[in-house]
Amino acid sequence: MTKYTHNERQASESGRDIRSAKMLRRKLQWLVAIVVACTGVLATEIIAASYSDFVIARRNLREVIAFCQVLDTATYLSAERGPSNGVMGIGIAPGSPVQARLAEFRARSDAALAEIVAGATDDSRSEPAAALSPILVEVQRRLSAARAEIDRIAAMPPERRSLTEIQRAIEDMFAVIDAMRPAFDWNIQRLTNTDPDLAGIAIAAHMLANLREDGGRLASQLMAPVAVGRPLQAKNIADSERTRGRLQEIWSVVGKPGALPGLKPKNIADIAAIEHEFFGEGFAIVDSVVSVGRHTGHYPMTAEQFTDRYVPKMKPLEILRRDFMDATVERLATSKTQASIKLTIATTATFALFIVLLILMRRARSLVFEPLLLARHSIIELANDRPIARLSGKGGEGEMGRLFDAIDVLRQRLDERTLLMKHLERQAETDELTGLLNRRALELIGGAEDAAGSDKNACLILMDIDHFKQINDTHGHLVGDIVLKETARILRYSVRSSDLVARFGGEEFAVITPGDDIDAARALAERIRSNLAGAPITVADGRELNVTASFGVAGANANPGWKGLIESADTELYRAKSEGRNRVCG
Ligand code: GH3
Ligand code: MG
Ligand code: MG
Repeated sequence: MTKYTHNERQASESGRDIRSAKMLRRKLQWLVAIVVACTGVLATEIIAASYSDFVIARRNLREVIAFCQVLDTATYLSAERGPSNGVMGIGIAPGSPVQARLAEFRARSDAALAEIVAGATDDSRSEPAAALSPILVEVQRRLSAARAEIDRIAAMPPERRSLTEIQRAIEDMFAVIDAMRPAFDWNIQRLTNTDPDLAGIAIAAHMLANLREDGGRLASQLMAPVAVGRPLQAKNIADSERTRGRLQEIWSVVGKPGALPGLKPKNIADIAAIEHEFFGEGFAIVDSVVSVGRHTGHYPMTAEQFTDRYVPKMKPLEILRRDFMDATVERLATSKTQASIKLTIATTATFALFIVLLILMRRARSLVFEPLLLARHSIIELANDRPIARLSGKGGEGEMGRLFDAIDVLRQRLDERTLLMKHLERQAETDELTGLLNRRALELIGGAEDAAGSDKNACLILMDIDHFKQINDTHGHLVGDIVLKETARILRYSVRSSDLVARFGGEEFAVITPGDDIDAARALAERIRSNLAGAPITVADGRELNVTASFGVAGANANPGWKGLIESADTELYRAKSEGRNRVCG
Protein backbone atom coordinates (compact mmCIF):
# COMPACT_ATOMS: atom_id res chain seq x y z
CA MET A 1 0.00 0.00 0.00
CA THR A 2 1.39 3.38 -0.94
CA LYS A 3 1.31 6.16 1.55
CA TYR A 4 -0.27 9.27 0.08
CA THR A 5 1.82 12.02 1.59
CA HIS A 6 0.89 15.68 1.77
CA ASN A 7 3.53 16.64 -0.81
CA GLU A 8 2.34 14.08 -3.32
CA ARG A 9 -1.20 15.30 -2.95
CA GLN A 10 -0.08 18.88 -3.44
CA ALA A 11 1.89 17.97 -6.60
CA SER A 12 -1.03 16.06 -8.09
CA GLU A 13 -3.42 18.91 -7.32
CA SER A 14 -1.22 21.52 -8.98
CA GLY A 15 -0.77 19.16 -11.96
CA ARG A 16 -4.53 18.90 -12.26
CA ASP A 17 -4.79 22.64 -11.94
CA ILE A 18 -2.34 23.22 -14.82
CA ARG A 19 -4.07 20.57 -16.94
CA SER A 20 -7.52 22.07 -16.50
CA ALA A 21 -6.15 25.55 -17.20
CA LYS A 22 -4.60 24.20 -20.39
CA MET A 23 -7.86 22.54 -21.33
CA LEU A 24 -9.76 25.79 -20.77
CA ARG A 25 -7.23 27.67 -22.93
CA ARG A 26 -7.53 25.06 -25.67
CA LYS A 27 -11.33 25.32 -25.55
CA LEU A 28 -10.99 29.07 -25.82
CA GLN A 29 -8.69 28.72 -28.83
CA TRP A 30 -11.19 26.40 -30.48
CA LEU A 31 -13.97 28.87 -29.81
CA VAL A 32 -11.91 31.66 -31.35
CA ALA A 33 -11.10 29.46 -34.36
CA ILE A 34 -14.79 28.59 -34.88
CA VAL A 35 -15.91 32.22 -34.56
CA VAL A 36 -13.16 33.37 -36.96
CA ALA A 37 -14.02 30.58 -39.43
CA CYS A 38 -17.77 31.41 -39.37
CA THR A 39 -17.05 35.12 -39.77
CA GLY A 40 -14.63 34.26 -42.58
CA VAL A 41 -17.27 32.21 -44.41
CA LEU A 42 -19.87 35.00 -44.05
CA ALA A 43 -17.36 37.68 -45.06
CA THR A 44 -16.24 35.64 -48.07
CA GLU A 45 -19.87 35.21 -49.14
CA ILE A 46 -20.53 38.94 -48.86
CA ILE A 47 -17.27 39.97 -50.53
CA ALA A 48 -17.70 37.38 -53.28
CA ALA A 49 -21.27 38.60 -53.94
CA SER A 50 -20.12 42.25 -53.99
CA TYR A 51 -17.19 41.38 -56.22
CA SER A 52 -19.39 39.47 -58.64
CA ASP A 53 -21.86 42.41 -58.72
CA PHE A 54 -18.93 44.70 -59.47
CA VAL A 55 -17.62 42.42 -62.24
CA ILE A 56 -21.11 42.18 -63.80
CA ALA A 57 -21.57 45.98 -63.64
CA ARG A 58 -18.14 46.55 -65.20
CA ARG A 59 -18.81 43.99 -67.97
CA ASN A 60 -22.29 45.42 -68.67
CA LEU A 61 -20.81 48.86 -69.05
CA ARG A 62 -18.06 47.61 -71.39
CA GLU A 63 -20.47 45.61 -73.53
CA VAL A 64 -22.95 48.48 -73.84
CA ILE A 65 -20.14 50.87 -74.80
CA ALA A 66 -18.96 48.36 -77.42
CA PHE A 67 -22.53 48.09 -78.78
CA CYS A 68 -22.74 51.89 -78.90
CA GLN A 69 -19.59 51.95 -80.99
CA VAL A 70 -21.08 49.50 -83.47
CA LEU A 71 -24.33 51.50 -83.69
CA ASP A 72 -22.40 54.77 -84.04
CA THR A 73 -20.34 53.27 -86.86
CA ALA A 74 -23.52 52.16 -88.63
CA THR A 75 -24.95 55.67 -88.23
CA TYR A 76 -21.78 57.16 -89.74
CA LEU A 77 -21.98 54.72 -92.65
CA SER A 78 -25.66 55.66 -93.21
CA ALA A 79 -24.80 59.35 -92.99
CA GLU A 80 -22.12 58.86 -95.64
CA ARG A 81 -24.91 58.17 -98.13
CA GLY A 82 -26.08 61.80 -98.07
CA PRO A 83 -22.93 63.34 -99.61
CA SER A 84 -22.45 60.18 -101.72
CA ASN A 85 -25.83 60.76 -103.34
CA GLY A 86 -24.90 64.39 -103.61
CA VAL A 87 -21.71 63.79 -105.61
CA MET A 88 -23.50 61.32 -107.89
CA GLY A 89 -26.05 64.07 -108.61
CA ILE A 90 -23.68 66.97 -109.19
CA GLY A 91 -20.52 65.26 -110.32
CA ILE A 92 -17.05 65.91 -109.06
CA ALA A 93 -16.38 69.56 -108.67
CA PRO A 94 -13.02 69.79 -106.96
CA GLY A 95 -13.35 71.92 -103.84
CA SER A 96 -17.18 71.81 -103.81
CA PRO A 97 -18.64 71.69 -100.32
CA VAL A 98 -20.43 68.36 -100.89
CA GLN A 99 -17.16 66.81 -102.02
CA ALA A 100 -15.44 68.03 -98.91
CA ARG A 101 -18.32 66.75 -96.75
CA LEU A 102 -18.11 63.32 -98.40
CA ALA A 103 -14.39 63.13 -97.64
CA GLU A 104 -15.03 64.19 -94.06
CA PHE A 105 -17.86 61.66 -93.59
CA ARG A 106 -15.81 58.86 -95.12
CA ALA A 107 -12.92 59.64 -92.82
CA ARG A 108 -15.26 59.65 -89.82
CA SER A 109 -16.81 56.28 -90.68
CA ASP A 110 -13.37 54.81 -91.46
CA ALA A 111 -12.10 55.91 -88.07
CA ALA A 112 -15.15 54.42 -86.30
CA LEU A 113 -14.84 51.20 -88.28
CA ALA A 114 -11.11 50.96 -87.50
CA GLU A 115 -11.92 51.33 -83.82
CA ILE A 116 -14.39 48.44 -83.71
CA VAL A 117 -12.04 46.32 -85.85
CA ALA A 118 -9.31 46.99 -83.28
CA GLY A 119 -11.76 46.17 -80.44
CA ALA A 120 -12.79 42.92 -82.11
CA THR A 121 -9.22 41.72 -82.51
CA ASP A 122 -8.05 42.88 -79.08
CA ASP A 123 -7.03 39.61 -77.37
CA SER A 124 -6.61 41.33 -74.01
CA ARG A 125 -10.40 41.76 -73.66
CA SER A 126 -11.81 39.44 -71.03
CA GLU A 127 -14.46 38.30 -73.51
CA PRO A 128 -12.97 38.48 -76.98
CA ALA A 129 -15.16 39.57 -79.86
CA ALA A 130 -13.29 37.65 -82.55
CA ALA A 131 -16.64 36.57 -84.04
CA LEU A 132 -17.09 40.17 -85.21
CA SER A 133 -13.92 40.12 -87.34
CA PRO A 134 -15.24 38.30 -90.45
CA ILE A 135 -18.39 40.46 -90.33
CA LEU A 136 -16.30 43.64 -90.31
CA VAL A 137 -14.08 42.33 -93.11
CA GLU A 138 -17.21 41.88 -95.24
CA VAL A 139 -18.45 45.37 -94.27
CA GLN A 140 -15.12 46.88 -95.30
CA ARG A 141 -15.10 44.91 -98.58
CA ARG A 142 -18.60 46.08 -99.54
CA LEU A 143 -17.79 49.62 -98.41
CA SER A 144 -14.70 49.91 -100.63
CA ALA A 145 -16.64 48.45 -103.58
CA ALA A 146 -19.57 50.84 -103.08
CA ARG A 147 -17.27 53.86 -102.64
CA ALA A 148 -15.31 52.92 -105.79
CA GLU A 149 -18.57 52.70 -107.73
CA ILE A 150 -19.78 56.06 -106.37
CA ASP A 151 -16.44 57.67 -107.22
CA ARG A 152 -16.53 56.16 -110.70
CA ILE A 153 -20.06 57.49 -111.39
CA ALA A 154 -19.23 60.90 -109.91
CA ALA A 155 -16.20 61.11 -112.22
CA MET A 156 -18.45 60.68 -115.32
CA PRO A 157 -19.92 63.62 -117.12
CA PRO A 158 -23.56 64.01 -115.88
CA GLU A 159 -25.14 63.10 -119.24
CA ARG A 160 -23.40 59.71 -119.22
CA ARG A 161 -24.58 58.67 -115.76
CA SER A 162 -27.22 55.98 -116.01
CA LEU A 163 -30.15 55.70 -113.65
CA THR A 164 -29.47 51.98 -113.22
CA GLU A 165 -25.85 52.53 -112.23
CA ILE A 166 -26.71 55.25 -109.71
CA GLN A 167 -29.52 53.09 -108.34
CA ARG A 168 -27.07 50.18 -107.98
CA ALA A 169 -24.45 52.35 -106.27
CA ILE A 170 -27.06 53.55 -103.77
CA GLU A 171 -28.11 49.97 -103.14
CA ASP A 172 -24.43 49.02 -102.71
CA MET A 173 -24.31 51.49 -99.82
CA PHE A 174 -27.47 49.87 -98.37
CA ALA A 175 -25.64 46.54 -98.64
CA VAL A 176 -22.86 47.90 -96.43
CA ILE A 177 -25.35 48.44 -93.61
CA ASP A 178 -26.94 45.07 -94.35
CA ALA A 179 -23.49 43.54 -93.91
CA MET A 180 -23.34 45.24 -90.48
CA ARG A 181 -26.59 43.59 -89.33
CA PRO A 182 -24.95 40.34 -88.13
CA ALA A 183 -22.73 42.56 -85.94
CA PHE A 184 -25.86 44.12 -84.36
CA ASP A 185 -27.33 40.68 -83.84
CA TRP A 186 -24.08 39.41 -82.32
CA ASN A 187 -23.94 42.37 -79.94
CA ILE A 188 -27.59 42.02 -78.94
CA GLN A 189 -27.02 38.33 -78.30
CA ARG A 190 -23.91 39.12 -76.22
CA LEU A 191 -25.77 41.73 -74.17
CA THR A 192 -28.73 39.41 -73.60
CA ASN A 193 -26.40 36.62 -72.50
CA THR A 194 -24.40 38.95 -70.27
CA ASP A 195 -27.43 40.16 -68.40
CA PRO A 196 -31.08 39.54 -69.34
CA ASP A 197 -31.86 43.04 -68.05
CA LEU A 198 -29.83 44.43 -70.95
CA ALA A 199 -31.94 42.66 -73.60
CA GLY A 200 -34.62 45.38 -73.56
CA ILE A 201 -32.00 48.10 -73.85
CA ALA A 202 -30.24 46.28 -76.70
CA ILE A 203 -33.47 45.81 -78.65
CA ALA A 204 -34.62 49.41 -78.10
CA ALA A 205 -31.20 50.74 -79.19
CA HIS A 206 -31.34 48.50 -82.26
CA MET A 207 -34.80 49.79 -83.16
CA LEU A 208 -33.63 53.39 -82.79
CA ALA A 209 -30.66 52.63 -85.06
CA ASN A 210 -33.03 51.05 -87.58
CA LEU A 211 -35.18 54.16 -87.43
CA ARG A 212 -32.19 56.27 -88.47
CA GLU A 213 -31.17 53.77 -91.14
CA ASP A 214 -34.62 53.49 -92.66
CA GLY A 215 -35.10 57.25 -92.44
CA GLY A 216 -32.00 57.62 -94.62
CA ARG A 217 -33.12 54.88 -96.98
CA LEU A 218 -36.48 56.51 -97.53
CA ALA A 219 -34.76 59.39 -99.32
CA SER A 220 -32.00 57.33 -100.89
CA GLN A 221 -34.56 55.05 -102.50
CA LEU A 222 -35.85 58.06 -104.47
CA MET A 223 -32.45 59.65 -105.00
CA ALA A 224 -31.35 57.97 -108.29
CA PRO A 225 -34.24 59.28 -110.47
CA VAL A 226 -33.92 62.72 -108.80
CA ALA A 227 -30.17 62.78 -109.53
CA VAL A 228 -30.67 62.07 -113.25
CA GLY A 229 -33.97 64.00 -113.62
CA ARG A 230 -36.09 61.03 -114.57
CA PRO A 231 -39.57 60.02 -113.33
CA LEU A 232 -39.73 57.58 -110.42
CA GLN A 233 -39.87 53.94 -111.33
CA ALA A 234 -42.36 51.56 -109.82
CA LYS A 235 -39.54 49.98 -107.75
CA ASN A 236 -38.58 53.36 -106.25
CA ILE A 237 -42.14 54.02 -105.19
CA ALA A 238 -42.68 50.50 -103.87
CA ASP A 239 -39.38 50.47 -101.92
CA SER A 240 -40.00 53.86 -100.36
CA GLU A 241 -43.59 52.91 -99.45
CA ARG A 242 -42.29 49.80 -97.73
CA THR A 243 -39.63 51.78 -95.87
CA ARG A 244 -42.19 54.37 -94.81
CA GLY A 245 -44.43 51.58 -93.47
CA ARG A 246 -41.50 50.06 -91.56
CA LEU A 247 -40.62 53.48 -90.07
CA GLN A 248 -44.17 53.98 -88.83
CA GLU A 249 -44.24 50.47 -87.44
CA ILE A 250 -40.99 50.96 -85.50
CA TRP A 251 -42.15 54.36 -84.30
CA SER A 252 -45.43 52.91 -83.03
CA VAL A 253 -43.30 50.76 -80.70
CA VAL A 254 -40.46 53.04 -79.59
CA GLY A 255 -42.21 56.39 -80.01
CA LYS A 256 -44.51 55.90 -77.03
CA PRO A 257 -43.61 57.58 -73.76
CA GLY A 258 -42.03 55.02 -71.44
CA ALA A 259 -41.15 52.65 -74.28
CA LEU A 260 -37.44 53.39 -73.87
CA PRO A 261 -36.22 52.06 -70.50
CA GLY A 262 -34.21 54.59 -68.50
CA LEU A 263 -34.72 57.54 -70.86
CA LYS A 264 -34.44 60.76 -68.87
CA PRO A 265 -37.55 62.98 -68.60
CA LYS A 266 -35.70 65.83 -70.30
CA ASN A 267 -35.26 63.63 -73.42
CA ILE A 268 -39.01 63.22 -73.80
CA ALA A 269 -38.66 66.39 -75.93
CA ASP A 270 -36.61 64.31 -78.41
CA ILE A 271 -39.73 62.25 -79.09
CA ALA A 272 -41.84 65.33 -79.79
CA ALA A 273 -39.08 66.67 -82.10
CA ILE A 274 -39.10 63.40 -84.08
CA GLU A 275 -42.88 63.52 -84.47
CA HIS A 276 -42.76 67.07 -85.69
CA GLU A 277 -39.52 67.29 -87.71
CA PHE A 278 -39.05 63.83 -89.12
CA PHE A 279 -42.53 62.37 -89.46
CA GLY A 280 -44.01 65.80 -90.21
CA GLU A 281 -41.57 67.91 -92.21
CA GLY A 282 -39.26 65.12 -93.44
CA PHE A 283 -42.17 63.05 -94.77
CA ALA A 284 -43.59 66.22 -96.42
CA ILE A 285 -40.33 66.71 -98.38
CA VAL A 286 -40.43 63.05 -99.48
CA ASP A 287 -44.11 63.42 -100.43
CA SER A 288 -43.39 66.49 -102.56
CA VAL A 289 -40.68 64.55 -104.45
CA VAL A 290 -42.88 61.48 -104.89
CA SER A 291 -45.94 63.43 -106.08
CA VAL A 292 -43.85 65.05 -108.89
CA GLY A 293 -41.75 62.00 -109.70
CA ARG A 294 -44.83 59.81 -110.35
CA HIS A 295 -45.43 61.78 -113.59
CA THR A 296 -42.32 63.71 -114.68
CA GLY A 297 -38.58 64.08 -114.06
CA HIS A 298 -38.92 67.83 -113.33
CA TYR A 299 -38.35 67.73 -109.63
CA PRO A 300 -38.75 70.85 -107.48
CA MET A 301 -35.17 70.36 -106.24
CA THR A 302 -31.85 68.81 -107.22
CA ALA A 303 -30.45 65.68 -105.55
CA GLU A 304 -28.15 67.86 -103.52
CA GLN A 305 -30.98 70.15 -102.41
CA PHE A 306 -33.12 67.13 -101.61
CA THR A 307 -30.27 65.80 -99.43
CA ASP A 308 -29.60 69.16 -97.83
CA ARG A 309 -33.22 69.64 -96.88
CA TYR A 310 -34.00 66.10 -95.85
CA VAL A 311 -30.90 65.14 -93.81
CA PRO A 312 -31.44 67.73 -91.02
CA LYS A 313 -34.95 66.29 -90.49
CA MET A 314 -33.30 63.02 -89.41
CA LYS A 315 -31.22 64.78 -86.78
CA PRO A 316 -33.78 64.19 -83.95
CA LEU A 317 -33.65 60.44 -84.72
CA GLU A 318 -29.92 60.47 -84.08
CA ILE A 319 -30.30 62.67 -81.01
CA LEU A 320 -32.86 60.31 -79.47
CA ARG A 321 -30.66 57.28 -80.08
CA ARG A 322 -27.62 59.03 -78.67
CA ASP A 323 -29.49 60.37 -75.62
CA PHE A 324 -30.94 56.96 -74.95
CA MET A 325 -27.54 55.30 -75.18
CA ASP A 326 -25.91 58.04 -73.09
CA ALA A 327 -28.57 57.61 -70.39
CA THR A 328 -27.96 53.86 -70.45
CA VAL A 329 -24.17 54.22 -70.25
CA GLU A 330 -24.52 56.74 -67.44
CA ARG A 331 -26.84 54.43 -65.53
CA LEU A 332 -24.48 51.47 -65.95
CA ALA A 333 -21.48 53.61 -64.99
CA THR A 334 -23.33 54.67 -61.83
CA SER A 335 -24.16 51.09 -60.93
CA LYS A 336 -20.54 50.13 -61.58
CA THR A 337 -19.40 52.89 -59.21
CA GLN A 338 -21.97 51.80 -56.64
CA ALA A 339 -20.84 48.21 -56.97
CA SER A 340 -17.22 49.22 -56.47
CA ILE A 341 -18.17 51.33 -53.42
CA LYS A 342 -20.13 48.39 -52.01
CA LEU A 343 -17.17 46.12 -52.63
CA THR A 344 -14.84 48.56 -50.87
CA ILE A 345 -17.23 48.89 -47.93
CA ALA A 346 -17.71 45.12 -47.67
CA THR A 347 -13.95 44.53 -47.77
CA THR A 348 -13.17 47.28 -45.27
CA ALA A 349 -16.01 46.22 -42.97
CA THR A 350 -14.84 42.62 -43.07
CA PHE A 351 -11.29 43.65 -42.29
CA ALA A 352 -12.50 45.87 -39.44
CA LEU A 353 -14.71 43.05 -38.16
CA PHE A 354 -11.73 40.70 -38.01
CA ILE A 355 -9.64 43.25 -36.17
CA VAL A 356 -12.45 43.95 -33.67
CA LEU A 357 -13.03 40.23 -33.21
CA LEU A 358 -9.36 39.61 -32.53
CA ILE A 359 -9.19 42.51 -30.07
CA LEU A 360 -12.36 41.28 -28.35
CA MET A 361 -10.99 37.77 -28.10
CA ARG A 362 -7.69 38.99 -26.70
CA ARG A 363 -9.48 41.23 -24.21
CA ALA A 364 -11.89 38.47 -23.24
CA ARG A 365 -8.86 36.31 -22.63
CA SER A 366 -6.94 38.85 -20.58
CA LEU A 367 -9.97 40.37 -18.80
CA VAL A 368 -12.14 37.33 -18.23
CA PHE A 369 -10.58 33.95 -18.81
CA GLU A 370 -7.11 34.53 -17.35
CA PRO A 371 -8.51 36.24 -14.21
CA LEU A 372 -11.07 33.44 -13.81
CA LEU A 373 -8.30 30.88 -14.01
CA LEU A 374 -6.29 32.86 -11.47
CA ALA A 375 -9.35 33.14 -9.19
CA ARG A 376 -10.01 29.43 -9.47
CA HIS A 377 -6.37 28.60 -8.77
CA SER A 378 -6.32 30.99 -5.80
CA ILE A 379 -9.46 29.48 -4.27
CA ILE A 380 -8.05 25.96 -4.63
CA GLU A 381 -4.80 27.11 -3.01
CA LEU A 382 -6.72 28.76 -0.16
CA ALA A 383 -8.81 25.64 0.33
CA ASN A 384 -5.58 23.68 0.66
CA ASP A 385 -4.13 26.12 3.20
CA ARG A 386 -1.41 27.23 0.83
CA PRO A 387 -0.36 30.88 0.71
CA ILE A 388 -1.46 33.02 -2.27
CA ALA A 389 -0.37 36.43 -3.52
CA ARG A 390 -2.52 39.48 -2.79
CA LEU A 391 -5.16 39.80 -5.56
CA SER A 392 -6.70 43.11 -4.54
CA GLY A 393 -6.39 45.67 -7.36
CA LYS A 394 -5.36 43.11 -9.98
CA GLY A 395 -8.85 42.53 -11.43
CA GLY A 396 -9.52 46.09 -12.56
CA GLU A 397 -12.62 48.12 -11.76
CA GLY A 398 -15.40 45.77 -12.81
CA GLU A 399 -16.86 42.47 -11.68
CA MET A 400 -13.48 40.77 -11.86
CA GLY A 401 -12.05 43.36 -9.47
CA ARG A 402 -14.87 42.65 -7.02
CA LEU A 403 -14.27 38.93 -7.36
CA PHE A 404 -10.57 39.42 -6.63
CA ASP A 405 -11.40 41.67 -3.68
CA ALA A 406 -13.76 38.98 -2.39
CA ILE A 407 -11.01 36.37 -2.71
CA ASP A 408 -8.70 38.70 -0.81
CA VAL A 409 -11.31 39.05 1.95
CA LEU A 410 -11.55 35.26 2.03
CA ARG A 411 -7.75 35.05 2.24
CA GLN A 412 -7.68 37.52 5.16
CA ARG A 413 -10.47 35.65 6.98
CA LEU A 414 -8.63 32.37 6.46
CA ASP A 415 -5.39 33.94 7.73
CA GLU A 416 -7.24 35.21 10.81
CA ARG A 417 -8.84 31.83 11.31
CA THR A 418 -5.46 30.12 11.00
CA LEU A 419 -3.99 32.46 13.61
CA LEU A 420 -6.95 31.83 15.90
CA MET A 421 -6.65 28.10 15.41
CA LYS A 422 -2.96 28.23 16.23
CA HIS A 423 -3.73 30.28 19.32
CA LEU A 424 -6.44 27.88 20.40
CA GLU A 425 -4.21 24.92 19.71
CA ARG A 426 -1.47 26.47 21.80
CA GLN A 427 -3.97 27.28 24.53
CA ALA A 428 -5.28 23.77 24.53
CA GLU A 429 -1.78 22.41 24.94
CA THR A 430 -0.46 24.98 27.42
CA ASP A 431 -0.74 25.07 31.15
CA GLU A 432 -2.15 28.43 32.05
CA LEU A 433 -0.27 28.97 35.27
CA THR A 434 3.24 27.96 34.22
CA GLY A 435 3.15 28.38 30.46
CA LEU A 436 4.52 24.83 30.11
CA LEU A 437 2.89 22.10 28.03
CA ASN A 438 -0.07 20.59 29.85
CA ARG A 439 -0.80 16.98 30.56
CA ARG A 440 -3.03 16.70 27.48
CA ALA A 441 -0.24 17.92 25.16
CA LEU A 442 2.17 15.49 26.78
CA GLU A 443 -0.27 12.60 26.34
CA LEU A 444 -0.76 13.57 22.68
CA ILE A 445 2.98 13.62 22.07
CA GLY A 446 3.42 10.31 23.86
CA GLY A 447 0.49 8.80 21.95
CA ALA A 448 1.84 10.08 18.62
CA GLU A 449 5.27 8.60 19.34
CA ASP A 450 3.58 5.29 20.10
CA ALA A 451 1.54 5.44 16.85
CA ALA A 452 4.60 6.28 14.77
CA GLY A 453 6.31 3.22 16.29
CA SER A 454 9.30 5.40 17.02
CA ASP A 455 12.31 3.50 18.16
CA LYS A 456 14.19 6.61 19.15
CA ASN A 457 15.66 6.71 22.62
CA ALA A 458 13.48 8.89 24.83
CA CYS A 459 13.56 9.12 28.62
CA LEU A 460 10.92 10.48 30.90
CA ILE A 461 11.67 12.41 34.08
CA LEU A 462 8.77 12.82 36.49
CA MET A 463 9.32 15.47 39.17
CA ASP A 464 7.19 16.17 42.28
CA ILE A 465 7.73 19.12 44.63
CA ASP A 466 8.36 17.98 48.15
CA HIS A 467 5.84 18.86 50.86
CA PHE A 468 4.05 21.26 48.65
CA LYS A 469 0.87 20.94 50.64
CA GLN A 470 2.78 22.46 53.54
CA ILE A 471 3.79 25.47 51.45
CA ASN A 472 0.18 25.98 50.58
CA ASP A 473 -0.94 25.52 54.08
CA THR A 474 1.76 27.78 55.56
CA HIS A 475 1.93 30.58 53.00
CA GLY A 476 -1.31 30.34 51.19
CA HIS A 477 -2.43 29.23 47.76
CA LEU A 478 -1.10 32.32 46.00
CA VAL A 479 2.39 31.71 47.27
CA GLY A 480 1.95 28.10 46.23
CA ASP A 481 1.18 29.34 42.73
CA ILE A 482 4.31 31.55 42.71
CA VAL A 483 6.38 28.55 43.75
CA LEU A 484 4.89 26.54 40.91
CA LYS A 485 5.69 29.29 38.38
CA GLU A 486 9.25 29.74 39.63
CA THR A 487 9.83 26.00 39.63
CA ALA A 488 8.65 25.93 36.00
CA ARG A 489 11.07 28.75 35.14
CA ILE A 490 14.02 26.92 36.77
CA LEU A 491 12.95 23.75 34.99
CA ARG A 492 12.88 25.53 31.67
CA TYR A 493 16.32 26.97 31.93
CA SER A 494 17.72 23.71 33.27
CA VAL A 495 16.74 21.69 30.19
CA ARG A 496 17.85 21.88 26.55
CA SER A 497 15.68 23.23 23.82
CA SER A 498 15.11 19.75 22.45
CA ASP A 499 13.65 18.58 25.76
CA LEU A 500 9.91 18.80 26.31
CA VAL A 501 8.71 20.14 29.65
CA ALA A 502 5.15 19.78 30.82
CA ARG A 503 3.14 20.29 33.97
CA PHE A 504 1.95 16.78 34.65
CA GLY A 505 -0.61 17.71 37.29
CA GLY A 506 -0.81 19.68 40.58
CA GLU A 507 2.85 20.11 41.66
CA GLU A 508 4.15 17.38 39.36
CA PHE A 509 6.21 18.05 36.21
CA ALA A 510 7.44 15.85 33.38
CA VAL A 511 10.45 16.18 31.09
CA ILE A 512 10.87 14.12 27.94
CA THR A 513 14.45 13.93 26.75
CA PRO A 514 14.52 12.63 23.19
CA GLY A 515 17.74 10.94 22.11
CA ASP A 516 19.11 10.60 25.65
CA ASP A 517 20.00 7.37 27.36
CA ILE A 518 18.95 6.82 30.95
CA ASP A 519 22.26 8.05 32.36
CA ALA A 520 22.03 11.36 30.52
CA ALA A 521 18.41 11.68 31.66
CA ARG A 522 19.42 10.97 35.23
CA ALA A 523 22.18 13.59 34.96
CA LEU A 524 19.65 16.09 33.65
CA ALA A 525 17.28 15.27 36.52
CA GLU A 526 20.14 15.72 38.94
CA ARG A 527 20.95 19.10 37.42
CA ILE A 528 17.36 20.22 37.76
CA ARG A 529 17.19 18.98 41.29
CA SER A 530 20.35 20.85 42.34
CA ASN A 531 19.29 24.02 40.47
CA LEU A 532 15.98 23.96 42.31
CA ALA A 533 17.49 23.12 45.68
CA GLY A 534 20.24 25.70 45.23
CA ALA A 535 17.98 28.61 44.32
CA PRO A 536 15.63 29.78 47.05
CA ILE A 537 12.39 31.08 45.60
CA THR A 538 11.55 34.65 46.49
CA VAL A 539 7.90 35.08 47.32
CA ALA A 540 5.86 38.11 48.49
CA ASP A 541 7.50 40.74 50.68
CA GLY A 542 11.01 39.41 50.03
CA ARG A 543 10.62 36.13 51.88
CA GLU A 544 12.65 33.27 50.47
CA LEU A 545 11.54 29.64 50.35
CA ASN A 546 13.78 26.65 49.93
CA VAL A 547 12.02 24.26 47.57
CA THR A 548 13.15 20.77 46.71
CA ALA A 549 11.71 18.08 44.52
CA SER A 550 12.00 14.34 43.98
CA PHE A 551 12.67 12.76 40.57
CA GLY A 552 11.78 9.48 38.92
CA VAL A 553 13.63 8.71 35.71
CA ALA A 554 12.68 5.96 33.21
CA GLY A 555 14.17 4.92 29.88
CA ALA A 556 12.25 3.58 26.89
CA ASN A 557 13.75 0.08 27.08
CA ALA A 558 12.60 -0.40 30.66
CA ASN A 559 8.90 -0.78 30.01
CA PRO A 560 7.75 -0.47 26.35
CA GLY A 561 5.28 2.21 25.28
CA TRP A 562 4.25 5.54 26.66
CA LYS A 563 2.14 4.10 29.44
CA GLY A 564 4.98 1.84 30.49
CA LEU A 565 7.35 4.77 30.55
CA ILE A 566 5.04 6.75 32.84
CA GLU A 567 4.51 3.77 35.11
CA SER A 568 8.26 3.18 35.39
CA ALA A 569 9.01 6.87 36.04
CA ASP A 570 6.18 7.03 38.57
CA THR A 571 7.54 3.99 40.37
CA GLU A 572 10.96 5.62 40.51
CA LEU A 573 9.43 8.88 41.78
CA TYR A 574 7.62 6.99 44.49
CA ARG A 575 10.94 5.42 45.42
CA ALA A 576 12.65 8.83 45.58
CA LYS A 577 9.89 10.07 47.91
CA SER A 578 10.11 7.09 50.17
CA GLU A 579 13.92 7.19 50.28
CA GLY A 580 13.79 10.66 51.79
CA ARG A 581 12.88 13.15 48.98
CA ASN A 582 15.11 15.73 47.21
CA ARG A 583 16.73 12.99 45.14
CA VAL A 584 16.77 11.31 41.78
CA CYS A 585 15.85 7.65 41.33
CA GLY A 586 15.79 5.54 38.13
P1 GH3 B 1 4.93 15.05 49.06
O1 GH3 B 1 6.25 15.53 49.49
O2 GH3 B 1 4.61 13.66 49.44
O3 GH3 B 1 4.74 15.19 47.55
O4 GH3 B 1 3.87 15.92 49.74
P2 GH3 B 1 3.02 17.03 49.18
O5 GH3 B 1 2.41 17.82 50.18
O6 GH3 B 1 3.77 17.78 48.10
O7 GH3 B 1 1.88 16.19 48.37
P3 GH3 B 1 0.29 16.23 48.37
O8 GH3 B 1 -0.14 15.35 47.25
O9 GH3 B 1 -0.20 15.77 49.68
O10 GH3 B 1 -0.09 17.68 48.22
C1 GH3 B 1 -0.12 18.35 46.96
C2 GH3 B 1 -0.79 19.65 47.10
O11 GH3 B 1 -0.66 20.48 46.01
C3 GH3 B 1 -2.27 19.50 47.29
C4 GH3 B 1 -2.90 20.60 46.50
O12 GH3 B 1 -3.73 21.42 47.25
C5 GH3 B 1 -1.74 21.37 46.01
N1 GH3 B 1 -1.95 21.89 44.73
C6 GH3 B 1 -2.28 21.17 43.61
N2 GH3 B 1 -2.37 22.02 42.57
C7 GH3 B 1 -2.12 23.30 43.05
C8 GH3 B 1 -2.09 24.59 42.44
O13 GH3 B 1 -2.32 24.77 41.25
N3 GH3 B 1 -1.79 25.66 43.24
C9 GH3 B 1 -1.53 25.52 44.55
N4 GH3 B 1 -1.25 26.61 45.21
N5 GH3 B 1 -1.61 24.34 45.10
C10 GH3 B 1 -1.87 23.24 44.39
MG1 MG C 1 2.21 15.23 44.38
MG1 MG D 1 4.60 16.81 46.40
